[in-house]
Amino acid sequence: IPEIALAGRSNVGKSSFINRMIQRKNLARTSSKPGKTQTLNFYIINDKFHFVDVPGYGYAKVSKKERAKWGRMMEEYFAERDQIKATALIIDIRHKPTEDDKLMYDYLKHFELPVMVIATKMDKIKKGQRHKQVKMVREVLEMEEEDTLIPFSAETGEGKDVAWRTMLSHLNM
Ligand code: GDP
Repeated sequence: IPEIALAGRSNVGKSSFINRMIQRKNLARTSSKPGKTQTLNFYIINDKFHFVDVPGYGYAKVSKKERAKWGRMMEEYFAERDQIKATALIIDIRHKPTEDDKLMYDYLKHFELPVMVIATKMDKIKKGQRHKQVKMVREVLEMEEEDTLIPFSAETGEGKDVAWRTMLSHLNM
């Protein structure tokens, strides 16, 4: 079954994103604590594809040894899973992407998979700031032309249709 890998700092709104995409209130709940996620969570969306939660975020601040360990785990994880068709990086549109967000974007790019950047909590941004914020995120992440940035809100449902269309096209569905 094809998979889409989801990455995002804890508390960024990852489970809210999944829940909104599939219109559930509570299905996608991660029990992970910040910096402690070491297990893989699979969310069975339907019989057509799965979301996979990419674990362990916050590595800009961890030791070299820890990061190397995490890196090996990730390599193994991605190397074994040729069913991963695309990745989505969830970021909070209110803030400048952190060093971790940037590292994660680069990391996902290195697997040569399409990266969708989901800029969530869009409802918290004033109308007049939207364009500027979106542009800033693209610049800070140094996003590649072919990668999509999708303004999103789990609160209002903004961006849901675009996110679905983009995902389905990566899944060739
Ligand atoms: P996770 O740890 O990444 O899974 O984050 P959650 O999905 O649990 O969300 C963290 C917090 O942000 C919760 O209080 C959510 O209600 C809130 N949140 C998530 N997405 C949005 C959004 O699009 N808009 C607003 N206003 N709040 C959001």
